[in-house]
Amino acid sequence: MTGREVLVVEDEEAIAEAVRARLVSEGFSVRMVHDGPKAITAVAERRPDLVVLDLMLPGMDGLEVCREIQKDAWVPVLMLTARTEEADKVAGFAAGADDYLTKPFSLRELVVRVRAILRRMDRIRQAPATEPIQRFDLTVDPARRRVLRDGAEVTLTPLEFEILLTLARSPGVVFGRDELMDRVWGYRDYAGGRVVDSHVARIRRKLGDEAADPTYIRTVHGVGYAFVEGGGD
Ligand code: CA
Repeated sequence: MTGREVLVVEDEEAIAEAVRARLVSEGFSVRMVHDGPKAITAVAERRPDLVVLDLMLPGMDGLEVCREIQKDAWVPVLMLTARTEEADKVAGFAAGADDYLTKPFSLRELVVRVRAILRRMDRIRQAPATEPIQRFDLTVDPARRRVLRDGAEVTLTPLEFEILLTLARSPGVVFGRDELMDRVWGYRDYAGGRVVDSHVARIRRKLGDEAADPTYIRTVHGVGYAFVEGGGD
């Protein structure tokens, strides 16, 4: 991963500098900007491999920046947040962030997360091009990273897409929350179960699959999730 470019967007100088120094010492190439508009310009110009993005920025909110930089192309984002409320985390993911860290965080943990996201990106890019998966009225297209339901496009964040793809590839197979976290996020943490649950809840909402008897994703109580069998391709 040496030489990968990381853009650090953080207005607090001390944090920005500590993050920069640590990432450089780990072999990353690092650029820093201190506000949202500069972050958008830097992403457009440099196409970094990953963005470390502070949620609370002057002038322009981190979530807005996150949405803006995802408009043209998928850039992985690790969100830094001073707030601990679950709502903020969920909002961050909904805006397209790949992961988040709550301040204060350890630099060691930051490096773990950065590496996990980059490994996930590598895995996705290197995955052999596979045919779209057809289940029921759902099409999950790994090559184009698109989901169609009854012919209409469903917009999922990168993480939501990975979860749905993982489940839809193996209908009937039960994936534990920890296992999903491992496969999709590339690491596990103590809050993993809830994070997975909130993502699945959002996928269901987007697919209109919130009924007690779901069409696509089945809850296996106390364990995890499985794609409903019977819609095979
Ligand atoms: Ca800040």
